Amino acid sequence: MSGAPADRIFFGGDVVTVDRDDRVVDAVAVAGGRIAAVGRRDDVMALRGPGTAVTDLGGRALLPGFVDAHGHLALTAQKLASANLSPPPIGRVTCIGDLQREMREQIERRDLAPGEWVIGMGYDDTDVEERRHPDRDDLDAVSREHPVVALHVSAHLLAANSRALEVAGISGVTPDPEGGRIRRRDNGDATGVLEETAMNAVFARLPQPSGQEAEEQALAAMEYYASFGATTAQEAALFSPSFMQACLRLSDAGEMPLDVVAYPLYTLARGMLAADSGRGHGRRFRLGGMKLLTDGSIQGYTAYLSRPYHAAAAGREPSYAGFPTFGSQEKLNAAVADGYANGWQVLAHANGDAAIGMVIEAARAADESHPGVDRRTTIIHAQTIREEQLDEVRELGLYVSFFPGHVYYGGDRHREVFLGPERAARINPMRSALDRGIPVTLHHDSPVTPPDILTAVWSAVNRVTSGGRELGPEQRMTPREAVRAVTIDAARQLFEEERKGSIEVGKLADLVLLAANPLTADPMRIREIVVEETVKEGETVYVP
Ligand SMILES: [Zn+2]
Repeated sequence: MSGAPADRIFFGGDVVTVDRDDRVVDAVAVAGGRIAAVGRRDDVMALRGPGTAVTDLGGRALLPGFVDAHGHLALTAQKLASANLSPPPIGRVTCIGDLQREMREQIERRDLAPGEWVIGMGYDDTDVEERRHPDRDDLDAVSREHPVVALHVSAHLLAANSRALEVAGISGVTPDPEGGRIRRRDNGDATGVLEETAMNAVFARLPQPSGQEAEEQALAAMEYYASFGATTAQEAALFSPSFMQACLRLSDAGEMPLDVVAYPLYTLARGMLAADSGRGHGRRFRLGGMKLLTDGSIQGYTAYLSRPYHAAAAGREPSYAGFPTFGSQEKLNAAVADGYANGWQVLAHANGDAAIGMVIEAARAADESHPGVDRRTTIIHAQTIREEQLDEVRELGLYVSFFPGHVYYGGDRHREVFLGPERAARINPMRSALDRGIPVTLHHDSPVTPPDILTAVWSAVNRVTSGGRELGPEQRMTPREAVRAVTIDAARQLFEEERKGSIEVGKLADLVLLAANPLTADPMRIREIVVEETVKEGETVYVP
Protein backbone atom coordinates (compact mmCIF):
# COMPACT_ATOMS: atom_id res chain seq x y z
CA MET A 1 0.00 0.00 0.00
CA SER A 2 1.24 3.46 -0.81
CA GLY A 3 0.90 6.33 1.61
CA ALA A 4 -0.87 8.85 -0.67
CA PRO A 5 -4.55 9.39 0.11
CA ALA A 6 -7.07 7.53 -2.03
CA ASP A 7 -9.39 9.19 -4.52
CA ARG A 8 -12.12 6.73 -3.64
CA ILE A 9 -12.71 3.89 -1.22
CA PHE A 10 -15.35 1.17 -1.50
CA PHE A 11 -16.25 -0.86 1.60
CA GLY A 12 -19.09 -2.79 3.17
CA GLY A 13 -19.79 -5.46 0.55
CA ASP A 14 -18.20 -8.31 -1.36
CA VAL A 15 -15.13 -7.15 -3.25
CA VAL A 16 -14.69 -10.08 -5.63
CA THR A 17 -11.02 -9.70 -6.49
CA VAL A 18 -10.70 -12.58 -9.01
CA ASP A 19 -7.06 -12.78 -7.94
CA ARG A 20 -5.08 -16.01 -7.97
CA ASP A 21 -6.77 -17.21 -4.77
CA ASP A 22 -10.21 -15.86 -5.68
CA ARG A 23 -10.23 -13.80 -2.51
CA VAL A 24 -13.38 -11.95 -1.57
CA VAL A 25 -12.47 -8.99 0.66
CA ASP A 26 -14.46 -6.10 2.07
CA ALA A 27 -12.69 -2.95 0.87
CA VAL A 28 -10.68 -1.45 -1.97
CA ALA A 29 -9.02 1.94 -2.47
CA VAL A 30 -8.43 3.68 -5.79
CA ALA A 31 -5.81 6.36 -6.46
CA GLY A 32 -4.64 7.88 -9.75
CA GLY A 33 -6.81 5.52 -11.79
CA ARG A 34 -5.27 2.42 -10.23
CA ILE A 35 -5.99 0.05 -7.38
CA ALA A 36 -4.11 1.39 -4.34
CA ALA A 37 -5.18 -1.06 -1.65
CA VAL A 38 -7.26 -4.22 -1.32
CA GLY A 39 -8.23 -6.00 1.85
CA ARG A 40 -9.77 -5.44 5.25
CA ARG A 41 -11.78 -2.30 5.78
CA ASP A 42 -9.63 -0.98 8.62
CA ASP A 43 -6.43 -1.32 6.61
CA VAL A 44 -7.88 0.24 3.47
CA MET A 45 -9.47 3.12 5.40
CA ALA A 46 -5.96 4.13 6.44
CA LEU A 47 -5.73 5.67 2.95
CA ARG A 48 -8.72 7.91 3.52
CA GLY A 49 -7.87 11.59 3.18
CA PRO A 50 -9.97 14.76 3.25
CA GLY A 51 -10.70 14.49 -0.49
CA THR A 52 -11.45 10.77 -0.56
CA ALA A 53 -14.90 9.78 -1.81
CA VAL A 54 -16.22 6.87 0.22
CA THR A 55 -18.81 4.44 -1.14
CA ASP A 56 -20.61 2.09 1.21
CA LEU A 57 -21.40 -0.97 -0.87
CA GLY A 58 -24.21 -1.78 1.54
CA GLY A 59 -23.98 -5.49 0.85
CA ARG A 60 -23.61 -5.08 -2.90
CA ALA A 61 -20.65 -6.46 -4.85
CA LEU A 62 -17.66 -4.92 -6.60
CA LEU A 63 -16.00 -6.89 -9.41
CA PRO A 64 -13.30 -6.18 -11.97
CA GLY A 65 -14.78 -4.41 -15.00
CA PHE A 66 -15.87 -6.93 -17.60
CA VAL A 67 -13.47 -7.61 -20.45
CA ASP A 68 -15.01 -8.39 -23.82
CA ALA A 69 -13.58 -11.65 -25.16
CA HIS A 70 -15.42 -11.32 -28.46
CA GLY A 71 -17.91 -8.87 -29.91
CA HIS A 72 -18.29 -6.27 -32.60
CA LEU A 73 -18.40 -2.73 -31.27
CA ALA A 74 -18.49 -1.16 -34.75
CA LEU A 75 -21.34 -3.39 -35.90
CA THR A 76 -23.13 -2.68 -32.62
CA ALA A 77 -22.77 1.04 -33.35
CA GLN A 78 -24.24 0.34 -36.78
CA LYS A 79 -27.08 -1.66 -35.27
CA LEU A 80 -27.99 1.13 -32.87
CA ALA A 81 -28.28 3.43 -35.90
CA SER A 82 -30.21 0.90 -38.04
CA ALA A 83 -33.70 -0.57 -38.08
CA ASN A 84 -33.92 -3.20 -35.32
CA LEU A 85 -35.10 -6.40 -37.01
CA SER A 86 -34.54 -8.70 -34.02
CA PRO A 87 -37.27 -10.98 -32.71
CA PRO A 88 -38.51 -10.48 -29.15
CA PRO A 89 -37.18 -10.00 -26.51
CA ILE A 90 -34.44 -7.99 -28.27
CA GLY A 91 -36.73 -6.44 -30.90
CA ARG A 92 -40.31 -6.60 -32.21
CA VAL A 93 -40.12 -8.56 -35.47
CA THR A 94 -42.22 -11.75 -35.51
CA CYS A 95 -43.05 -11.88 -39.24
CA ILE A 96 -41.85 -10.43 -42.53
CA GLY A 97 -44.60 -7.79 -42.36
CA ASP A 98 -43.07 -6.54 -39.09
CA LEU A 99 -39.67 -6.42 -40.75
CA GLN A 100 -41.06 -4.34 -43.61
CA ARG A 101 -42.72 -1.97 -41.14
CA GLU A 102 -39.46 -1.46 -39.21
CA MET A 103 -37.66 -0.69 -42.47
CA ARG A 104 -40.30 1.82 -43.58
CA GLU A 105 -40.15 3.51 -40.18
CA GLN A 106 -36.38 3.76 -40.56
CA ILE A 107 -36.82 5.71 -43.83
CA GLU A 108 -39.12 8.15 -42.04
CA ARG A 109 -37.16 8.39 -38.80
CA ARG A 110 -33.90 9.17 -40.57
CA ASP A 111 -35.60 11.18 -43.29
CA LEU A 112 -33.74 9.26 -45.98
CA ALA A 113 -33.77 10.74 -49.47
CA PRO A 114 -34.39 8.44 -52.47
CA GLY A 115 -31.18 6.61 -53.31
CA GLU A 116 -29.94 6.57 -49.70
CA TRP A 117 -29.35 3.17 -48.12
CA VAL A 118 -31.90 1.68 -45.74
CA ILE A 119 -30.21 -0.74 -43.35
CA GLY A 120 -31.82 -3.10 -40.88
CA MET A 121 -30.09 -5.64 -38.67
CA GLY A 122 -30.83 -8.74 -36.65
CA TYR A 123 -33.63 -10.62 -38.43
CA ASP A 124 -33.80 -14.36 -37.74
CA ASP A 125 -35.35 -16.47 -40.51
CA THR A 126 -36.04 -19.31 -38.06
CA ASP A 127 -37.86 -16.99 -35.69
CA VAL A 128 -40.37 -15.30 -38.03
CA GLU A 129 -43.77 -16.85 -38.75
CA GLU A 130 -42.85 -17.54 -42.39
CA ARG A 131 -39.69 -19.45 -41.35
CA ARG A 132 -37.74 -18.05 -44.29
CA HIS A 133 -35.44 -15.19 -45.22
CA PRO A 134 -36.97 -12.05 -46.69
CA ASP A 135 -36.22 -11.92 -50.43
CA ARG A 136 -35.80 -9.10 -52.91
CA ASP A 137 -39.57 -8.91 -53.49
CA ASP A 138 -40.25 -8.46 -49.78
CA LEU A 139 -37.68 -5.66 -49.64
CA ASP A 140 -38.81 -4.12 -52.95
CA ALA A 141 -42.17 -3.74 -51.21
CA VAL A 142 -40.38 -1.53 -48.67
CA SER A 143 -38.89 0.61 -51.43
CA ARG A 144 -37.68 0.40 -54.99
CA GLU A 145 -36.05 3.82 -54.82
CA HIS A 146 -33.74 3.08 -51.91
CA PRO A 147 -31.20 0.28 -51.77
CA VAL A 148 -32.59 -1.80 -48.87
CA VAL A 149 -30.48 -4.32 -46.92
CA ALA A 150 -31.46 -6.56 -44.02
CA LEU A 151 -28.58 -8.24 -42.17
CA HIS A 152 -29.26 -11.65 -40.62
CA VAL A 153 -28.80 -12.03 -36.84
CA SER A 154 -25.65 -14.08 -37.45
CA ALA A 155 -24.14 -11.33 -39.66
CA HIS A 156 -23.22 -14.16 -42.03
CA LEU A 157 -26.07 -13.57 -44.50
CA LEU A 158 -28.04 -10.61 -45.74
CA ALA A 159 -31.10 -9.94 -47.87
CA ALA A 160 -31.04 -7.14 -50.44
CA ASN A 161 -33.71 -5.54 -52.60
CA SER A 162 -33.42 -5.15 -56.37
CA ARG A 163 -31.91 -1.68 -56.13
CA ALA A 164 -29.23 -2.81 -53.68
CA LEU A 165 -28.35 -5.80 -55.87
CA GLU A 166 -28.08 -3.49 -58.85
CA VAL A 167 -25.84 -1.02 -57.00
CA ALA A 168 -23.66 -3.92 -55.81
CA GLY A 169 -23.42 -5.24 -59.38
CA ILE A 170 -25.08 -8.57 -58.60
CA SER A 171 -27.30 -10.17 -61.24
CA GLY A 172 -28.33 -13.66 -62.27
CA VAL A 173 -25.10 -14.12 -64.23
CA THR A 174 -22.76 -13.07 -61.40
CA PRO A 175 -20.74 -16.14 -60.33
CA ASP A 176 -20.56 -17.14 -56.66
CA PRO A 177 -17.39 -15.74 -55.07
CA GLU A 178 -14.99 -18.07 -53.23
CA GLY A 179 -16.40 -18.73 -49.76
CA GLY A 180 -19.82 -17.34 -50.59
CA ARG A 181 -23.07 -18.02 -52.37
CA ILE A 182 -25.65 -15.96 -54.21
CA ARG A 183 -28.96 -17.73 -53.65
CA ARG A 184 -30.86 -18.14 -56.92
CA ARG A 185 -34.32 -18.94 -58.17
CA ASP A 186 -35.02 -21.77 -60.59
CA ASN A 187 -34.61 -19.33 -63.49
CA GLY A 188 -31.17 -18.32 -62.17
CA ASP A 189 -32.14 -14.86 -60.85
CA ALA A 190 -30.70 -13.83 -57.49
CA THR A 191 -33.28 -14.20 -54.70
CA GLY A 192 -31.66 -11.30 -52.85
CA VAL A 193 -30.17 -13.53 -50.13
CA LEU A 194 -26.37 -13.41 -50.09
CA GLU A 195 -24.28 -15.77 -48.00
CA GLU A 196 -20.86 -15.08 -46.46
CA THR A 197 -18.33 -13.51 -48.87
CA ALA A 198 -21.11 -12.82 -51.40
CA MET A 199 -22.11 -10.00 -48.99
CA ASN A 200 -18.83 -8.16 -49.59
CA ALA A 201 -20.06 -6.61 -52.86
CA VAL A 202 -22.83 -4.92 -50.86
CA PHE A 203 -20.60 -3.96 -47.92
CA ALA A 204 -18.20 -2.27 -50.34
CA ARG A 205 -20.99 0.08 -51.46
CA LEU A 206 -22.38 1.00 -48.05
CA PRO A 207 -21.83 4.66 -47.18
CA GLN A 208 -19.24 5.36 -44.48
CA PRO A 209 -20.53 7.72 -41.79
CA SER A 210 -18.94 11.16 -41.72
CA GLY A 211 -16.32 11.93 -39.06
CA GLN A 212 -18.66 13.41 -36.50
CA GLU A 213 -21.40 10.89 -37.19
CA ALA A 214 -18.92 8.03 -36.81
CA GLU A 215 -17.77 9.44 -33.46
CA GLU A 216 -21.33 9.81 -32.20
CA GLN A 217 -22.21 6.27 -33.26
CA ALA A 218 -19.05 4.79 -31.73
CA LEU A 219 -19.57 6.69 -28.49
CA ALA A 220 -23.21 5.56 -28.26
CA ALA A 221 -22.08 1.94 -28.63
CA MET A 222 -19.37 2.35 -25.98
CA GLU A 223 -21.86 3.83 -23.54
CA TYR A 224 -24.19 0.93 -24.28
CA TYR A 225 -21.39 -1.54 -23.45
CA ALA A 226 -20.52 0.36 -20.27
CA SER A 227 -24.15 0.05 -19.15
CA PHE A 228 -23.54 -3.72 -18.93
CA GLY A 229 -20.37 -3.31 -16.87
CA ALA A 230 -17.82 -3.59 -19.67
CA THR A 231 -14.61 -1.58 -19.33
CA THR A 232 -12.88 -3.16 -22.33
CA ALA A 233 -14.72 -3.79 -25.61
CA GLN A 234 -13.66 -5.56 -28.77
CA GLU A 235 -14.20 -4.84 -32.41
CA ALA A 236 -13.53 -8.29 -33.77
CA ALA A 237 -14.03 -7.79 -37.50
CA LEU A 238 -12.60 -4.34 -38.18
CA PHE A 239 -12.64 -3.20 -41.77
CA SER A 240 -13.92 0.37 -41.55
CA PRO A 241 -11.15 2.99 -41.41
CA SER A 242 -13.76 5.56 -40.37
CA PHE A 243 -14.54 3.59 -37.19
CA MET A 244 -10.86 3.32 -36.28
CA GLN A 245 -10.27 7.02 -36.94
CA ALA A 246 -13.33 7.92 -34.86
CA CYS A 247 -12.02 5.85 -31.93
CA LEU A 248 -8.55 7.40 -32.17
CA ARG A 249 -10.01 10.93 -32.19
CA LEU A 250 -12.26 10.12 -29.23
CA SER A 251 -9.30 8.65 -27.37
CA ASP A 252 -7.10 11.67 -28.01
CA ALA A 253 -9.92 13.94 -26.84
CA GLY A 254 -10.20 11.93 -23.62
CA GLU A 255 -13.80 11.01 -24.41
CA MET A 256 -13.65 7.23 -24.59
CA PRO A 257 -15.43 5.61 -21.64
CA LEU A 258 -13.66 2.29 -22.15
CA ASP A 259 -10.77 0.59 -23.91
CA VAL A 260 -11.28 -0.86 -27.36
CA VAL A 261 -9.16 -3.62 -28.85
CA ALA A 262 -9.77 -4.18 -32.55
CA TYR A 263 -8.92 -7.12 -34.80
CA PRO A 264 -8.92 -6.23 -38.51
CA LEU A 265 -10.47 -8.78 -40.85
CA TYR A 266 -7.51 -10.38 -42.55
CA THR A 267 -9.14 -10.70 -45.97
CA LEU A 268 -10.39 -7.11 -46.17
CA ALA A 269 -8.04 -5.13 -43.95
CA ARG A 270 -4.62 -6.79 -43.71
CA GLY A 271 -3.20 -3.38 -44.66
CA MET A 272 -4.47 -1.85 -41.41
CA LEU A 273 -2.35 -4.32 -39.45
CA ALA A 274 0.66 -3.89 -41.69
CA ALA A 275 0.45 -0.10 -41.24
CA ASP A 276 0.11 -0.35 -37.44
CA SER A 277 3.36 0.79 -35.91
CA GLY A 278 3.44 0.31 -32.17
CA ARG A 279 0.19 -0.85 -30.69
CA GLY A 280 -1.68 1.44 -28.38
CA HIS A 281 0.54 4.48 -27.84
CA GLY A 282 -1.17 4.92 -24.47
CA ARG A 283 -4.47 5.43 -26.24
CA ARG A 284 -7.72 3.68 -25.44
CA PHE A 285 -7.84 2.13 -28.90
CA ARG A 286 -5.37 -0.42 -30.21
CA LEU A 287 -5.14 -3.20 -32.74
CA GLY A 288 -4.85 -6.60 -31.10
CA GLY A 289 -4.14 -8.85 -34.07
CA MET A 290 -5.97 -10.40 -36.99
CA LYS A 291 -9.36 -12.00 -37.44
CA LEU A 292 -10.12 -14.90 -39.74
CA LEU A 293 -13.56 -16.15 -40.72
CA THR A 294 -13.32 -19.85 -41.51
CA ASP A 295 -17.02 -20.65 -41.71
CA GLY A 296 -20.41 -19.11 -41.03
CA SER A 297 -23.25 -19.68 -38.62
CA ILE A 298 -25.20 -22.80 -37.71
CA GLN A 299 -28.49 -20.85 -37.69
CA GLY A 300 -27.66 -19.62 -41.19
CA TYR A 301 -26.79 -23.15 -42.40
CA THR A 302 -23.36 -21.82 -43.31
CA ALA A 303 -21.28 -23.37 -40.49
CA TYR A 304 -18.96 -26.04 -41.88
CA LEU A 305 -19.80 -29.34 -40.14
CA SER A 306 -18.24 -32.78 -40.52
CA ARG A 307 -21.70 -34.37 -40.67
CA PRO A 308 -24.87 -33.03 -42.35
CA TYR A 309 -27.32 -30.73 -40.65
CA HIS A 310 -30.09 -32.48 -38.71
CA ALA A 311 -32.94 -31.10 -40.84
CA ALA A 312 -31.83 -30.31 -44.37
CA ALA A 313 -32.09 -26.67 -45.37
CA ALA A 314 -34.70 -25.72 -47.95
CA GLY A 315 -33.30 -26.29 -51.42
CA ARG A 316 -30.24 -28.26 -50.26
CA GLU A 317 -29.18 -31.87 -50.54
CA PRO A 318 -29.64 -33.91 -47.33
CA SER A 319 -25.86 -34.43 -47.36
CA TYR A 320 -25.21 -30.66 -47.17
CA ALA A 321 -22.91 -29.83 -44.24
CA GLY A 322 -21.96 -26.20 -44.87
CA PHE A 323 -18.76 -24.92 -46.41
CA PRO A 324 -15.43 -23.31 -45.51
CA THR A 325 -15.58 -19.55 -46.09
CA PHE A 326 -11.87 -18.83 -46.12
CA GLY A 327 -11.06 -21.17 -49.00
CA SER A 328 -8.69 -24.13 -49.03
CA GLN A 329 -6.65 -25.52 -46.15
CA GLU A 330 -3.48 -24.28 -47.89
CA LYS A 331 -4.86 -20.75 -48.07
CA LEU A 332 -5.79 -20.82 -44.38
CA ASN A 333 -2.37 -22.21 -43.47
CA ALA A 334 -0.73 -19.34 -45.34
CA ALA A 335 -2.85 -16.73 -43.55
CA VAL A 336 -2.10 -18.12 -40.07
CA ALA A 337 1.59 -18.44 -40.94
CA ASP A 338 1.54 -14.79 -42.10
CA GLY A 339 0.11 -13.80 -38.73
CA TYR A 340 2.72 -15.82 -36.83
CA ALA A 341 5.54 -14.41 -38.96
CA ASN A 342 4.38 -10.85 -38.23
CA GLY A 343 3.63 -11.39 -34.55
CA TRP A 344 -0.10 -10.76 -34.99
CA GLN A 345 -2.36 -12.58 -32.59
CA VAL A 346 -4.75 -14.79 -34.58
CA LEU A 347 -8.46 -15.02 -33.77
CA ALA A 348 -10.26 -17.56 -35.92
CA HIS A 349 -14.03 -17.74 -36.10
CA ALA A 350 -15.11 -21.39 -36.42
CA ASN A 351 -18.53 -22.78 -35.47
CA GLY A 352 -18.62 -26.10 -37.30
CA ASP A 353 -16.31 -28.94 -36.31
CA ALA A 354 -14.95 -29.24 -39.87
CA ALA A 355 -13.93 -25.56 -39.81
CA ILE A 356 -12.48 -26.04 -36.31
CA GLY A 357 -10.41 -28.91 -37.70
CA MET A 358 -9.04 -26.59 -40.40
CA VAL A 359 -8.06 -23.99 -37.79
CA ILE A 360 -6.31 -26.59 -35.64
CA GLU A 361 -4.40 -27.88 -38.65
CA ALA A 362 -3.37 -24.36 -39.70
CA ALA A 363 -2.25 -23.51 -36.15
CA ARG A 364 -0.25 -26.73 -35.96
CA ALA A 365 1.49 -26.02 -39.28
CA ALA A 366 2.25 -22.40 -38.35
CA ASP A 367 3.53 -23.47 -34.95
CA GLU A 368 5.96 -25.86 -36.59
CA SER A 369 7.35 -23.15 -38.87
CA HIS A 370 7.34 -20.42 -36.15
CA PRO A 371 7.72 -22.26 -32.83
CA GLY A 372 8.22 -21.18 -29.27
CA VAL A 373 6.17 -17.99 -28.94
CA ASP A 374 3.28 -17.29 -26.56
CA ARG A 375 0.64 -16.50 -29.19
CA ARG A 376 -2.72 -17.12 -27.51
CA THR A 377 -4.28 -18.05 -30.82
CA THR A 378 -8.00 -18.19 -30.11
CA ILE A 379 -10.80 -20.21 -31.67
CA ILE A 380 -13.87 -17.98 -31.56
CA HIS A 381 -17.17 -19.82 -30.82
CA ALA A 382 -15.87 -23.41 -31.27
CA GLN A 383 -19.52 -24.27 -30.98
CA THR A 384 -19.37 -27.91 -32.10
CA ILE A 385 -15.77 -28.71 -31.15
CA ARG A 386 -15.33 -32.45 -30.58
CA GLU A 387 -13.61 -34.09 -27.61
CA GLU A 388 -10.54 -35.22 -29.56
CA GLN A 389 -10.26 -31.73 -31.06
CA LEU A 390 -10.11 -30.35 -27.51
CA ASP A 391 -7.16 -32.68 -26.91
CA GLU A 392 -5.41 -31.07 -29.88
CA VAL A 393 -6.32 -27.57 -28.68
CA ARG A 394 -4.77 -28.41 -25.32
CA GLU A 395 -1.64 -29.79 -26.93
CA LEU A 396 -1.19 -26.70 -29.14
CA GLY A 397 -1.92 -24.25 -26.32
CA LEU A 398 -4.83 -22.59 -28.12
CA TYR A 399 -7.49 -20.52 -26.37
CA VAL A 400 -11.21 -21.10 -26.82
CA SER A 401 -13.87 -18.40 -26.52
CA PHE A 402 -17.43 -19.72 -26.22
CA PHE A 403 -20.70 -17.94 -26.96
CA PRO A 404 -23.05 -19.33 -24.28
CA GLY A 405 -25.95 -17.30 -25.68
CA HIS A 406 -26.20 -20.00 -28.35
CA VAL A 407 -27.56 -22.27 -25.61
CA TYR A 408 -30.25 -19.81 -24.58
CA TYR A 409 -31.21 -18.06 -27.81
CA GLY A 410 -30.66 -20.92 -30.25
CA GLY A 411 -30.58 -24.07 -28.13
CA ASP A 412 -34.11 -25.32 -28.84
CA ARG A 413 -33.73 -24.85 -32.59
CA HIS A 414 -30.26 -26.39 -32.52
CA ARG A 415 -31.87 -29.45 -30.97
CA GLU A 416 -34.92 -29.65 -33.22
CA VAL A 417 -33.67 -28.22 -36.51
CA PHE A 418 -29.96 -27.69 -37.02
CA LEU A 419 -28.01 -30.27 -35.03
CA GLY A 420 -30.36 -32.78 -33.42
CA PRO A 421 -30.42 -33.72 -29.72
CA GLU A 422 -27.03 -35.38 -29.44
CA ARG A 423 -24.89 -32.66 -31.03
CA ALA A 424 -27.03 -29.87 -29.54
CA ALA A 425 -26.38 -31.10 -25.98
CA ARG A 426 -22.65 -30.73 -26.60
CA ILE A 427 -22.59 -27.23 -28.09
CA ASN A 428 -20.08 -25.02 -26.30
CA PRO A 429 -18.52 -27.89 -24.31
CA MET A 430 -17.15 -25.60 -21.61
CA ARG A 431 -16.75 -28.29 -18.97
CA SER A 432 -14.82 -30.54 -21.34
CA ALA A 433 -12.48 -27.64 -22.15
CA LEU A 434 -11.97 -26.52 -18.55
CA ASP A 435 -11.33 -30.06 -17.34
CA ARG A 436 -8.44 -30.24 -19.81
CA GLY A 437 -6.99 -26.99 -18.49
CA ILE A 438 -7.73 -25.11 -21.73
CA PRO A 439 -8.05 -21.32 -21.25
CA VAL A 440 -11.75 -20.57 -21.72
CA THR A 441 -13.42 -17.19 -22.15
CA LEU A 442 -17.07 -16.27 -22.67
CA HIS A 443 -18.59 -13.72 -25.03
CA HIS A 444 -21.87 -12.20 -26.22
CA ASP A 445 -20.89 -11.57 -29.86
CA SER A 446 -22.73 -8.24 -29.80
CA PRO A 447 -24.73 -7.28 -31.84
CA VAL A 448 -25.76 -10.92 -32.36
CA THR A 449 -27.00 -10.62 -28.78
CA PRO A 450 -26.81 -7.47 -26.63
CA PRO A 451 -23.38 -6.88 -24.98
CA ASP A 452 -24.77 -8.22 -21.72
CA ILE A 453 -21.94 -10.13 -20.08
CA LEU A 454 -23.93 -11.17 -17.02
CA THR A 455 -26.42 -12.92 -19.30
CA ALA A 456 -23.50 -14.78 -20.89
CA VAL A 457 -22.35 -15.80 -17.39
CA TRP A 458 -25.90 -16.85 -16.52
CA SER A 459 -26.20 -18.91 -19.68
CA ALA A 460 -22.88 -20.70 -19.11
CA VAL A 461 -23.78 -21.48 -15.50
CA ASN A 462 -27.32 -22.73 -16.17
CA ARG A 463 -27.39 -23.93 -19.79
CA VAL A 464 -31.12 -23.33 -20.10
CA THR A 465 -32.82 -22.61 -23.44
CA SER A 466 -35.33 -19.85 -24.13
CA GLY A 467 -37.96 -22.62 -24.09
CA GLY A 468 -36.94 -23.54 -20.54
CA ARG A 469 -35.13 -26.80 -21.33
CA GLU A 470 -31.74 -27.76 -19.88
CA LEU A 471 -29.26 -28.31 -22.71
CA GLY A 472 -26.19 -30.35 -21.82
CA PRO A 473 -26.20 -29.57 -18.08
CA GLU A 474 -23.05 -31.70 -17.68
CA GLN A 475 -21.19 -28.95 -19.59
CA ARG A 476 -22.08 -26.20 -17.09
CA MET A 477 -19.46 -23.88 -15.64
CA THR A 478 -19.46 -22.81 -12.01
CA PRO A 479 -20.23 -19.13 -11.31
CA ARG A 480 -16.61 -18.70 -10.20
CA GLU A 481 -15.30 -20.11 -13.50
CA ALA A 482 -17.74 -18.05 -15.53
CA VAL A 483 -16.79 -14.80 -13.76
CA ARG A 484 -13.11 -15.55 -14.34
CA ALA A 485 -13.92 -16.17 -18.02
CA VAL A 486 -15.23 -12.61 -18.45
CA THR A 487 -12.56 -10.89 -16.34
CA ILE A 488 -9.04 -12.23 -15.78
CA ASP A 489 -9.16 -14.97 -18.40
CA ALA A 490 -10.58 -12.59 -21.02
CA ALA A 491 -7.83 -10.10 -20.11
CA ARG A 492 -5.27 -12.87 -20.59
CA GLN A 493 -6.70 -13.66 -24.02
CA LEU A 494 -6.04 -9.98 -24.87
CA PHE A 495 -2.50 -10.07 -23.36
CA GLU A 496 -3.71 -7.60 -20.71
CA GLU A 497 -3.70 -9.71 -17.56
CA GLU A 498 -0.91 -7.62 -16.03
CA ARG A 499 -3.11 -4.48 -16.08
CA LYS A 500 -6.69 -5.74 -16.02
CA GLY A 501 -9.08 -8.50 -15.08
CA SER A 502 -8.66 -8.60 -11.30
CA ILE A 503 -8.76 -6.23 -8.34
CA GLU A 504 -5.13 -6.19 -7.25
CA VAL A 505 -2.81 -3.39 -6.18
CA GLY A 506 -1.26 -1.63 -9.18
CA LYS A 507 -3.84 -2.74 -11.73
CA LEU A 508 -6.18 -0.32 -13.50
CA ALA A 509 -9.17 0.70 -11.39
CA ASP A 510 -11.61 -0.80 -13.91
CA LEU A 511 -14.56 -1.87 -11.78
CA VAL A 512 -18.22 -2.79 -11.91
CA LEU A 513 -20.58 -2.35 -8.98
CA LEU A 514 -23.35 -4.96 -8.99
CA ALA A 515 -26.52 -5.09 -6.91
CA ALA A 516 -25.60 -8.64 -5.84
CA ASN A 517 -22.64 -11.00 -5.91
CA PRO A 518 -22.97 -13.44 -8.85
CA LEU A 519 -20.85 -15.99 -6.96
CA THR A 520 -23.39 -16.31 -4.16
CA ALA A 521 -26.66 -15.34 -5.90
CA ASP A 522 -29.21 -17.94 -6.96
CA PRO A 523 -27.61 -19.06 -10.26
CA MET A 524 -30.89 -18.70 -12.16
CA ARG A 525 -31.08 -15.04 -11.11
CA ILE A 526 -27.58 -13.98 -12.17
CA ARG A 527 -28.89 -12.30 -15.32
CA GLU A 528 -31.25 -10.15 -13.24
CA ILE A 529 -28.40 -8.60 -11.26
CA VAL A 530 -28.42 -4.87 -11.92
CA VAL A 531 -25.27 -3.02 -12.95
CA GLU A 532 -25.26 -0.01 -10.61
CA GLU A 533 -22.03 1.66 -11.67
CA THR A 534 -19.18 1.13 -14.10
CA VAL A 535 -15.79 2.65 -13.32
CA LYS A 536 -12.97 3.02 -15.86
CA GLU A 537 -9.57 3.89 -14.38
CA GLY A 538 -11.24 5.43 -11.37
CA GLU A 539 -13.76 7.51 -13.35
CA THR A 540 -17.46 6.71 -13.27
CA VAL A 541 -18.50 5.99 -16.86
CA TYR A 542 -21.97 4.61 -16.19
CA VAL A 543 -24.69 4.91 -13.59
CA PRO A 544 -28.32 3.97 -14.34
ZN1 LIG B 1 -18.45 -12.49 -33.95
